Amino acid sequence: MATGALPSRSQVETIVRQVVTARLAGTRTGPPVLAVHASARHMHVSREDLDRLFGPGYELTVDRPLHQPGNFAAKETVTLIGPRSRLISNLRILGPLRSRSQIELAFTDAVSLGYDDVPIRLSGNLDGTPGALVMGPHGVLELGEGVIRAAMHAHMSPADAAHYGVRQGDLMKLRVGGDAATTFERVHVRIDPSSRLDVHMDTDEANACGLAHARQIELFK
Ligand SMILES: [Zn+2]
Repeated sequence: MATGALPSRSQVETIVRQVVTARLAGTRTGPPVLAVHASARHMHVSREDLDRLFGPGYELTVDRPLHQPGNFAAKETVTLIGPRSRLISNLRILGPLRSRSQIELAFTDAVSLGYDDVPIRLSGNLDGTPGALVMGPHGVLELGEGVIRAAMHAHMSPADAAHYGVRQGDLMKLRVGGDAATTFERVHVRIDPSSRLDVHMDTDEANACGLAHARQIELFK
């Protein structure tokens, strides 16, 4: 169209159709934007265990929302007592509530608590994992199992998965550039329609690869 001229009706219709089609198809103009976050040690808690720790019917308070929609860091914290009576205070609870309580530690945390070993597991895969004593303001919870090192994972939408050509449960690689450049080889793909593209690692992994000063982060098959 010439500068200064009004677009014709058919030109307007074409533009509108393109915009609407793009919206409906969920298409993007560029590649997905990759976020990488380090998760500090934390606890996910069940309804029953929250009752025990904070009192019957207690509700978590949102401190700040996390990158994944609906997830949040709560204001509430607990004290974690590991083997040999060593403890970590101010262990943050993350919401929303889960069907089973779970404590995610970096290996450094596990060592300082006195654990000989804490297995690397995907979230929710807790059978045979070590337990802990957890102290809240209302009561003490004896957690029989549920302490894990979280396996590194990439949250993504079905559109992101299509972009990378991966399926639920696939393993991908994450290259973190910079002075401590590192490639992680076992990043588990977790697809959910509500997810934003986001790799989660623990604080040991983030320290090892210098995540805070990383350049050129790349996720690939
Ligand atoms: Zn995650």
